[in-house]
Amino acid sequence: MTIAEALRLYPLPRLEARMLLQQAAPALTHARIVAYPEQALSAEEEANFRVLAARRAAGEPVAYLIGRREFYGRDFTVGPQVLIPRPETEHLIEAALQRFGGRAARVVDLGTGSGAIATTLALEAPEWRVRAVDLSPEALTIARGNAERLGAQVEFHQGSWYQALPADAVFDLIVSNPPYIRSDDEHLGQGDVRFEPRMALTDEADGLACLREIAAGAPRHLLPGGWLMVEHGYDQGPAVRGLFAAAGLQQVETIVDLAGLDRITLAMMKAD
Ligand code: GLN
Repeated sequence: MTIAEALRLYPLPRLEARMLLQQAAPALTHARIVAYPEQALSAEEEANFRVLAARRAAGEPVAYLIGRREFYGRDFTVGPQVLIPRPETEHLIEAALQRFGGRAARVVDLGTGSGAIATTLALEAPEWRVRAVDLSPEALTIARGNAERLGAQVEFHQGSWYQALPADAVFDLIVSNPPYIRSDDEHLGQGDVRFEPRMALTDEADGLACLREIAAGAPRHLLPGGWLMVEHGYDQGPAVRGLFAAAGLQQVETIVDLAGLDRITLAMMKAD
């Protein structure tokens, strides 16, 4: 089978087919794939490609098939144990860097998954002390591997939200991209999401259960003048602003994503 025949095997978007082909035939560069479509694949490359392309055609996310996804300019290892990092989460990184960039800060990422947020923050702001929490030991294995491979100093804790941390741990910044999809949201049955860990996507309730817990616990763990920043669903802005206000946080604000949708809400612990 030639490169051109492989790329036509399934009706996949051309870029996806090329990415899978490079995964199946590591010796092939993108330039070779484009320049030599008539080149024949080895039997092993062809067999590898057929498996990957069939799995993609059946819906598996490209990120899981190639084992990585880019986030904030770096490649993160991902697998079905962790949520695939999304571009909209980069707004959380920018909001965090804007408020504390350039000065020492104690930071925690709750529900770190692949570790994309914690690792990115530790690398972009080396003066910060970054911790990360996840309930899933399998996710933490992936997160630790990402931090190590990318050279980030992150301290990992296994457990549920704040309970994973020492009771007296205090922070300048708490960030989280928690599961916020309602359990009956039809989106859970569509596209890449079907293959992602359900516990990273939904609280099995109204979508606000984890956000509620994170907001309610924040005042006990935020230093005066510290910030809480969370990602949430496009229709959860008013509810999350309400949760933050109810927790006594101030300067509550929502940031929209590139599609103009409510995506990140942040607020400050009063600086008394
Ligand atoms: N942004 C993801 C999605 O809508 C959900 C991630 C999450 O629940 N934190 O697919």
